[in-house]
This record gives sequence, structure tokens and C-alpha cells, in this order.
Amino acid sequence: MLIAKNSVVSFHYKVATADGEQVDASEEGKPMSYLHGGGQLIAGVEEVMVGKQAGDHVDATIPPEKGYGVYDANLDREVPLDAFPKDGRKELKPGFTFVAEHPDKDGERVMFTVIDVDGQSVRITANHPLAGQTLLFTIDVVDVRKASAEELSHGHAHGPGGHHHH
Ligand code: ZN
Repeated sequence: MLIAKNSVVSFHYKVATADGEQVDASEEGKPMSYLHGGGQLIAGVEEVMVGKQAGDHVDATIPPEKGYGVYDANLDREVPLDAFPKDGRKELKPGFTFVAEHPDKDGERVMFTVIDVDGQSVRITANHPLAGQTLLFTIDVVDVRKASAEELSHGHAHGPGGHHHH
């Protein structure tokens, strides 16, 4: 069966930045599952999956535009240290993430990442940690099947490697 809209795909993957640093990978023996066309994966990965089948190996270079977006400096903020709750301040190190209101869109909550802490000020960004990065994906397709009606209504894959919320 070839991957197309509404396929549920299980796959193993490794992803590295252009300079070779591995940033993520599926767990040994536990492939990840997704509903194709459900917007669960970055666009570039969904694109290279089309027409593949179980057993296929795919190497793909995904530019930021089809990955986690280009880096938007407007999403960087400098905030005073005392804007953070006192007992959480010692955790504020580069790479620390937290959820708060989007800097530009009222009512929308997004993940922020701490870039730097300098004395009494903290540089944070609402850019995805991988924004601006070209990503090298190594993918092995394990299984392709049709999505169930329930998966289609939820917009994601169930079962091993998928959502477990039932
Ligand atoms: Zn569900």
C-alpha cells in the first residue's frame, strides 16, 4: 500500500541539523505513527512520504520553510527576571521551555525557549527550537495502513506509536 492522504504510517526516523548534530530519533523497536495529511508532521516530511511503502528508506533534506519555519526575530523578547515566579528562576537556563501567551496573537499560547539569561534580564523566543534549521531526515517506513473512521475523526493515528488518550 502506498502512502497517500488518510494513510496511517509507522516509521523510524533520525533527524539531524545540517552540521550533523542529531536532534531527535524514534525509539528502538518503537516506530512512530502518524495520520498522513493530518498536519501532524512538518510539511517537508509529509511531502517525501507520498507514494512510499513499507520497507522504503528515505533520506531527505528539509529546508526551514518546510520544517519548523524560518527564524523570526520579531518573536524574540527581552523580559525582566522578576517577571518569572521566584521559585522557578533557577531553572531559567538556555534551552529551558515554558508555555505562555503568544507575543503577537492575543489568547494564543505558544512554547517559549530561553535563549540567554543575563543578570536581571532574560532573552526568550517563541520561535521553535529548530526554526531556521535545515534538517536531514533518515526515514524507514515500517507499515502503511488505512486510517480507521475514529482516527479520521480525531485527526491522528491511534495504536502503538500514535496517540494513547482513550
Ligand atoms: Zn484519538
